[in-house]
Amino acid sequence: MDISSLSQINPPPRLLMGPGPINADPRVLRAMSSQLIGQYDPAMTDYMNQVMALYRGVFATQNQWTLLVDGTSRAGIEAILVSTIRPGDKVLVPVFGRFGHLLCEIARRCRAEVHTIEVPWGEVFRPEQIEEAIKKVKPRLLLTVQGDTSTTMLQPLEQLGEICRRHGVLLYTDATASLAGNPLETDAWGIDAVSAGMQKCLCGPSGTSPITLSDRIVDQIRKRKCVEEGIRTAQHQQGDEEMIYSNYFDLGMVLDYWGPERLNHHTEATSALFGAYEAARLILEEGLEAGIARHKLHGDAVLKGVHAMGLQVFGDIQHKMNNVLGVYIPSGVVGDEVRHLMLNDFGIEIGTSFGPLHGKVWRIGTMGYNARKSCVMQTLTALEAVLNHVGFKTVQGAALQAAWDHYQASGAHA
Ligand SMILES: *Cc1c(COP(=O)(O)O)cnc(C)c1O
Repeated sequence: MDISSLSQINPPPRLLMGPGPINADPRVLRAMSSQLIGQYDPAMTDYMNQVMALYRGVFATQNQWTLLVDGTSRAGIEAILVSTIRPGDKVLVPVFGRFGHLLCEIARRCRAEVHTIEVPWGEVFRPEQIEEAIKKVKPRLLLTVQGDTSTTMLQPLEQLGEICRRHGVLLYTDATASLAGNPLETDAWGIDAVSAGMQKCLCGPSGTSPITLSDRIVDQIRKRKCVEEGIRTAQHQQGDEEMIYSNYFDLGMVLDYWGPERLNHHTEATSALFGAYEAARLILEEGLEAGIARHKLHGDAVLKGVHAMGLQVFGDIQHKMNNVLGVYIPSGVVGDEVRHLMLNDFGIEIGTSFGPLHGKVWRIGTMGYNARKSCVMQTLTALEAVLNHVGFKTVQGAALQAAWDHYQASGAHA
């Protein structure tokens, strides 16, 4: 192959205002370019311990087992599901968007008996609906999504932990898109396992999945591990169904690597860990609550601006995530043409939608490093200009004025 035709990596500058990924914070990128050290260098194991402590802060938990799974967000999801679900276990999944379907799909691969309840896209569940289904199904696990970017909705979780305790159910939530942009109280809400990813509100590139596990769920995983060791040493096939089918995602082994035993498993993805470390430091330096308030401030500014353009927003706004907004594509406008003009003429990316919303809704994100006034103002300006260009006439300047008014009324200058 003629490599002279290949240029050095030099991606075009983009402002990523979709549902993720978003532009990484430069501090995270700098941390990731640090030189490598050995896997058992005391400096490295210190960083691993510090990462555990930092993410306890981000997840609002005292859970000892708070660590990183190497891989994108679904690596964290899969590690938890594969390590927890035994073949034949009943699981209940309240589905309100695409990522609920993903949980069902992974749980089926784990040979779970999967039960679902559904609401139309754009809505969330009331806790009573979930409790009723728990009483009927009697699942071992309740698998939930907190913020489903496919619909932009945020499922309230506050009461689910207490409900699950009463019925002896383990509670998992996928907080990939919501963590650090919306409140999540792992301990106070009684959630047994949470997983996340870097490329939404956590300001980093995809490739690392922070997770946290309660002692209750770790006990279950460890019990399974003993059975597994028994199977291996006995060298027979009996009880094979108890075995966790994945080596990479076997959390029993991953915990032994992150714990004081430091048993060799994978080689921790060093550069990714440096990035995750710096991302958590950024978040805790700003303060978790202040960061969530910032996401709300800028998310609301987009909402005000979009309304002022005469556009309609998607879903139950009372339950919208702070960090992403669904906007109906007005009739007569081709959604992808607008997205291409935004990208080519302004260098701004906004999101399309999946499934039932495809071609009907754009998704505009304000998260992590891009939950900033200048990003909001640029995006609203560009969208307004492009809409007028393709023939959807707005009162030019109205969106910006609405956002300005919102910032002024909020007393915000950032
Ligand atoms: C964006 C998102 C993911 C992404 O998973 P990746 O493996 O990082 O692509 C997972 N879950 C939810 C709820 C998301 O919004």
